[in-house]
Amino acid sequence: MFAVKTFRPVQVQPRTMHLFNNKAYINGEWVSAKSNKVFEVTNPATGEVIGTAPDMDAADAQHAIDSASKAFATWQYTTAKRRSLYLRHWFDLMVKHHESLAKIVRLEAGKPVMEARHEITYGNSFVEFFSEETRRIQGAIIPSPVANKKILVEKQPIGVAGLITPWNFPHAMITRKAGAALAAGCTCVIKPAEDTPLTALALMLLAQQAGFPKGVVNVVTSSRGNAPGIGNLLCDSHLVAGISFTGSTQVGKLLYKRCSSRVKRLALELGGNAPFIVYKSADVDSAVKGAIAAKFRNSGQACIAPNRFFIHSDIYDSFVEKLINEIKALKMGSGEDLEVQIGPLINQAQFEKVSSLVQDAVSKGAKVLIGGKGAPQHGRLFYEPTLLTDIKDDMMVYTEEVFGPVVNIFRFDSEEESVAMANNTERGLAGYFYSQDVSQIFRVARKLEVGICGVNQDMLSTAEAPVGGVKESGLGREGSHQGIEEFTYLKYIALGNL
Ligand code: ADP
Repeated sequence: MFAVKTFRPVQVQPRTMHLFNNKAYINGEWVSAKSNKVFEVTNPATGEVIGTAPDMDAADAQHAIDSASKAFATWQYTTAKRRSLYLRHWFDLMVKHHESLAKIVRLEAGKPVMEARHEITYGNSFVEFFSEETRRIQGAIIPSPVANKKILVEKQPIGVAGLITPWNFPHAMITRKAGAALAAGCTCVIKPAEDTPLTALALMLLAQQAGFPKGVVNVVTSSRGNAPGIGNLLCDSHLVAGISFTGSTQVGKLLYKRCSSRVKRLALELGGNAPFIVYKSADVDSAVKGAIAAKFRNSGQACIAPNRFFIHSDIYDSFVEKLINEIKALKMGSGEDLEVQIGPLINQAQFEKVSSLVQDAVSKGAKVLIGGKGAPQHGRLFYEPTLLTDIKDDMMVYTEEVFGPVVNIFRFDSEEESVAMANNTERGLAGYFYSQDVSQIFRVARKLEVGICGVNQDMLSTAEAPVGGVKESGLGREGSHQGIEEFTYLKYIALGNL
């Protein structure tokens, strides 16, 4: 019988625990790139180099795929209870080392300390949830039309899962995917973003301590230059059964095309262009509070951050005035300060993108009510919380995901107009609206073309809910039991001649 004792995590004092690591993790071993190359990881808040990670390429990824494939041969047959215990121990270690993980997220993603802590709590919750949910992956016995036959339906893990993650939630995007894949009985090859590989490696240290068998979970780190080669291999390899990707629509489309050659399972969580609508019946104070929280979380660098604000004419002036006051109160600065809410953008490319989108809007007639420029007194990558009005649909801020601390406001008069403008995009990830009119709440919630809808609510992410998009925002769902289903397939077993 399986002994729980085997899975007790190694006892390490949190204060002395050092989770920084500069090696990748393949087949239960800490390894350099075969080429011996490394790349630097910098703190976006200060520009300081905080560490290095192996700059791996397709040859290293092949090693990880082979290891994961070998491990799958036995991992797929572990009992759900046993997988649940591994996940639970991993979660317990993440809780124990919460502060160390938060520190790494703060340093490599530049998040203010409170945001970094929130991310760890949120990221951990996926592993906790999937540790519970793994024991509920159930099949079915379906009544047969023939007397001597039985129809059984079993859920089986798809195989090796390639998990490609972004930098904006370096912890949670990994646990959301890996927690579900491991719960389903899959093994994983994780390719974290080049800006934030150290959190992924810290998670591997804890996975190793949690006792996952070698090869069950692997991390291949690489610079941006090597990412396409690794991505292509994950798509092309017959040993990889499916890919789960969170990132840009552009890369998501490349992966979608490439996976077609092997008809591979694919989950894509891509860019959004979230509307945030405030109707005239709304509680304006609550809408302003929600706008600040949803928009400025992680300095606007979230796929579900509102990207276009539509405010009813009757409450427009009051909303804008209150929003300006709240924006003025936001504190920007060093990540160590507990009161800081706004950190830097992740890198120079992101800073330039945000600046150019604002410049484009201003050149086409948008008005800057506050912000509209960098904040070099805090650091090279800080951008002031910004409020733009007089937005038109030919401006890039209307069609592009800003991914920065910029609010773009439109005025509207009718519900039809607001819904039409909100849906006038190829993207459909999140959408928010504020209203106290019950009929309107049901009507608009139904009509918004999004996969995630917040009604009088800015906080949407939770392990219990399925998140994902419609239209070009992606395929599949993450979180909730549905997140596990993405890593399973149904097998129909017909028992005859009974
Ligand atoms: P962003 O523009 O926000 O960095 P990306 O979609 O470019 O978003 O990156 C998300 C993840 O996809 C990162 O881990 C990155 O290294 C990886 N990536 C980038 N290009 C490719 C590619 N061609 N194939 C596979 N992964 C890629």
